[in-house]
Amino acid sequence: MSEYEEYITKITSDLVKINSENPPGREKEAAEYVVERLKELGVHAWIDEFAEKRANAMGVIERGEGAGLLFVSHLDTVPAGNKELWSVPPFSGLIKDGKIFGRGAADDKGCVAAMLGALKMLADEDWPIRGRLIFAAVGDEEVGSGGIKRLISQGVRADYAVVGEPTKLNIYSAHNGGINFSVKFLGKSAHASQPFQGINAIYAASDFALKIEKLAIRLRKKRTFTGSPSISLTIIKGGVKSNIIPDSCESILDRRITPEEDPDKVIETVRKIAEKVAKTRRVKIEFKVMRVIPPAETDRKSEIVQAALKAASKVLGKKIRLKGLRATCDMTFLVNEAHIPTIIFGPGDLKQCHAVDEWVSIEELRKGAEIYKEIAVEILK
Ligand SMILES: [Zn+2]
Repeated sequence: MSEYEEYITKITSDLVKINSENPPGREKEAAEYVVERLKELGVHAWIDEFAEKRANAMGVIERGEGAGLLFVSHLDTVPAGNKELWSVPPFSGLIKDGKIFGRGAADDKGCVAAMLGALKMLADEDWPIRGRLIFAAVGDEEVGSGGIKRLISQGVRADYAVVGEPTKLNIYSAHNGGINFSVKFLGKSAHASQPFQGINAIYAASDFALKIEKLAIRLRKKRTFTGSPSISLTIIKGGVKSNIIPDSCESILDRRITPEEDPDKVIETVRKIAEKVAKTRRVKIEFKVMRVIPPAETDRKSEIVQAALKAASKVLGKKIRLKGLRATCDMTFLVNEAHIPTIIFGPGDLKQCHAVDEWVSIEELRKGAEIYKEIAVEILK
C-alpha cells in the first residue's frame, strides 16, 4: 500500500469501528476523531454539536482571496440490522483482500476518509490553492438531514460543493426527488353479516392500489438522465376486526420525481386518481402530502461539473460521462436552499450501501482522494 492508501485505509477502518448508527444517531465520537485528523493536517477545525451526541465535524483552510469550495460527506450510518446475517462483524473495520469491511465502509465513511486523504495530499504540498476550502462531515444524513440543514442555516459560504457519496467514481450532476403521500379512504362500518349496510374502505383502497400500479408501469417507460420516475404503494393499513366491515383504510405512497417533473403536477395526478376512486366507491378521502424532497440539478456547463470531469479523466486516464442519481441525497438542500452548484462524487458502490457485509475498495478510495484533490486544485486556482 502507498502512504496515502495506508492513511485513508486506517481512517476508514477506525471510523467503521466507531458505531454511528442512525437511528439513534450518535456522530459526536466520529466527529471528534475527524477533527483530530483535521488538526494534524494544520486545518482550522471544530466540532459543531447540534443535539446531544449529535455533531458535524468542520474544517476550513483559507488561502487568501478566491472562490469557496465545500466538501461534504456524512458520519452517520444506517443501522447494521441483524448482525447474524453478516459474515464479518459490522463494526470490525476488517481490512482484507484490498477492501475494508463494515457498516458505513462505503456509505459514507470511505468518502469521509478519501476527502481527508485529499486534504493530506494538499497539506503535503503546502496547500497549492487560493480561496476557501471548507470540509464538513455532517450528521443525520440518513434520517432527517439535520447536519446539512444546520450547516446551511449557519450561512455556509461556498461557490461550489462536492457531496461525497459512493458513486463508484462516477460524477453525478443531478438526482431525483421524492414525495410521500398518505391517502385515507373513509367508508362506513357495519356488521360483517350484513356487509352491504356498510361501505368497505379496503375495497376502495384496493381499487386505488391497482390504479397506482398501472401508473407505475407507465412511468417506468419514461427514460431520463436520472433514470425513470416511479411510484409505489408501500404501506396499507385498514380494518379492525374480522367481523367488522372496515370504515377506514390508509395507503402510503412513495413517488420518485426526476428534475424534469413539476412536483405540484405530480401531486395533482395522484390526488385525481384518489378522487376518482372515492367517487365510484362512494367513500370520502383524506389526502395528505407527508414529505417533499425536491430533485436537484447542476448545469453541465457549471465550473464544478467541468472541474470534476477534468479531474476524474486525469486520474482515471479515460473520458468520464456525467450521470444522474436515482436516489435523493443532501445535494437537494445545497442546490434548492443554499443555491450552490453541486455535484455528487465518491469512491464505493451504491450497491454496498445499507447492505450486509458492506465494503469499499482501498484502490478506489485512493483514486477518489486524488480526484477530490484535483477538483480542489482546479476550482481554487
Ligand atoms: Zn450516504
